Amino acid sequence: MKYWLYFLVITSIILLVTLAGMFIVFKEQYTLLESSRDTLLQQNTELLEETIFQSNEITRLQDQIQELQERLGDEIDKFDELEDRVKDSLETVETFKKLSETDPQLLQKYSKVYFLNEHYSPKDLETIDHNHVLSPKQLKIKEQVAPFLDELLEEAQDDDIDLQILSAYRSFGIQATIKQNYVLTYGATAANTFSADQGYSEHQLGTTVDFTTKDVGGELSRFQTTEAYEWLLDNAYKYGFTLSYPENNAYYQFEPWHWRFVGKELAKDLHRNDQHFYDLDQRKLNTYLIGIFDD
Ligand SMILES: [Zn+2]
Repeated sequence: MKYWLYFLVITSIILLVTLAGMFIVFKEQYTLLESSRDTLLQQNTELLEETIFQSNEITRLQDQIQELQERLGDEIDKFDELEDRVKDSLETVETFKKLSETDPQLLQKYSKVYFLNEHYSPKDLETIDHNHVLSPKQLKIKEQVAPFLDELLEEAQDDDIDLQILSAYRSFGIQATIKQNYVLTYGATAANTFSADQGYSEHQLGTTVDFTTKDVGGELSRFQTTEAYEWLLDNAYKYGFTLSYPENNAYYQFEPWHWRFVGKELAKDLHRNDQHFYDLDQRKLNTYLIGIFDD
């Protein structure tokens, strides 16, 4: 009985010691785990803070990029504006250059009222192809007008219209001689109704021609009855030519043969509005000068 009691006491003591030892070990491990957890939590917080910082940094950089893009946009706009201004300036210079090289006389009115200087003579005259000239004499026209006249004559030929030129450039001196002869033949009063005095003739400009046909020849009064005249009324404006002295004009008798080059733009406007060159005032006519040789 005594042994059994000893055994029980000893066993209990061993058990208690074991349990105490186990408790100590578990407690240590628990403390260790707790400390690891705290460390992890700490690290997590730090990472979170780092992430927030990085995210703010990204936002800041994005803002900077946007600002830079806006500034770049502004600079591009300024550059475009500057480019436009340079272009405008160049165009203005070009316009002035073109205007300074265009003879202002080309759209001046010349008739009994308006006078062209006796020394005026176009610098650039070229001989008209003799196939289109009725007489054997050489006729000349201003070089810059020649391509427009050539085109008109070619188109007329394509439409089977027999169009010939009877007269083109006439100098101040030649006009004086012609007028003198007319005065001698018809008398001053009659001559004044169909022939200009020297200096008052559009022919001195080198931009004006008198048309005829082989059939009519020099008999200009018959020209108004021809198909060629009808064709000119319908088509001459397309090549920049206009009838200077229509029926009932204030300056001369009706001259269906006498056509002056005024440029395509003005000729088309006159045709569209059923007007004639001398109906427009000089200021209006001058606005067409810059583009007179434009196609
Ligand atoms: Zn004429």
